[in-house]
Amino acid sequence: MGNVNVNIDGKKLRVREGVTILEAAEANGIKIPTLCHIKDQVPTGICRVCVVELERSRTLVGSCHTPVSEGMVIHTHSPKVTAVRRVIVELMLTAHTGDCVNDTNAENCVLHNLASDYEVGAPRFNVKVPRFYPAEDSNPYVRRNLSKCILCRKCVRVCASIPGKNILSVGYRGFRSKIVAGFDEALLSEKCRDCGKCIEHCPTGALSAPVKV
Ligand code: SF4
Repeated sequence: MGNVNVNIDGKKLRVREGVTILEAAEANGIKIPTLCHIKDQVPTGICRVCVVELERSRTLVGSCHTPVSEGMVIHTHSPKVTAVRRVIVELMLTAHTGDCVNDTNAENCVLHNLASDYEVGAPRFNVKVPRFYPAEDSNPYVRRNLSKCILCRKCVRVCASIPGKNILSVGYRGFRSKIVAGFDEALLSEKCRDCGKCIEHCPTGALSAPVKV
């Protein structure tokens, strides 16, 4: 494969054909936010936070799954992109109902950091069925607080990439969807041990290492 010429945020770049807009931007020091992307894994485009404006395209496109092509002119932080990202983050905050005030992991919550960067306040949307789940401490290696889960599925994907694991999946449907272990069982240490990969990738405080006392 050869190279193509693209313009990202006014920078004229020559990038490898076949890479995504997100990869081209990152390789050239242009940061595009994302909540569901995992480096070197097939992109899912679930979170939509990485949308960018592409000249001559009617709609915004997901940068994590759109490959570059010759002559593309891309805007990663235009007013239109910012407005859409703000609504996406606000919608996610609506379903992210866990208490963050007393959470020692809150500073690592990428969603809250994004809300701060994009000046998103308390969500305006009402939810008919609040997504509340009690925090689970049954596993000595992973604490789960699924009230904070935004269903980005990163934990499911990293767990599946570990030989012999594949413990997690998305259970139920629609608004009741949640990340489950097995048939929605407790996350017992016989199955899930201390690799810590899901914690490392979780962009919210839904998965964390238990606090040692
Ligand atoms: S638990 Fe974390 S990584 Fe898993 S889907 Fe929820 S937010 Fe994403």
